[in-house]
Amino acid sequence: MSSVLAEDFLTIYAKDFLQANFNLKLTVPIQTNNRLRSTLGRFVVTRSGKPLRIELSARLLNYGTDDVILGVLRHELLHYAFFVQGKNYQDGDPVFEEELKRYRAPSTRTLKVGKYYQYRCIQCKQTGETNVKRIVEKPHEYRSNCCHSPIEIIGEQIYRGFI
Ligand SMILES: [Zn+2]
Ligand SMILES: [Zn+2]
Repeated sequence: MSSVLAEDFLTIYAKDFLQANFNLKLTVPIQTNNRLRSTLGRFVVTRSGKPLRIELSARLLNYGTDDVILGVLRHELLHYAFFVQGKNYQDGDPVFEEELKRYRAPSTRTLKVGKYYQYRCIQCKQTGETNVKRIVEKPHEYRSNCCHSPIEIIGEQIYRGFI
């Protein structure tokens, strides 16, 4: 992420987006989460049902293009807007998914962002891909799914996501 697209910028972008499209104010912080692995971003609500924060993963901010970062942010802002308006704000809800398209925001888990490693089964030469760093550091601890044979790391690739 370029230095211009820091948390401050994202907050300004988010405020403008909510104001312009939903006439809503942003009442939660936008934060980077280094431990967020399963998803690129998330909208967090308290147990008692109050908006708490929007998180973007460090992986997204480090590897995503600016366009992809803002797309994921719009996705989380739509969760926020739907929640505040009392609508069904869950991923997969047809109305929510329509709004994602309308605002050119990616559907959940459709983007590949980050550093991935290619490996090969020593036995049958079948290849696979993973973003689990430990496999690269200790490949001898792993076996291929195909033959339960040792694997070798054959390359790595950085994905920046696409919308
Ligand atoms: Zn979502
Ligand atoms: Zn194999």
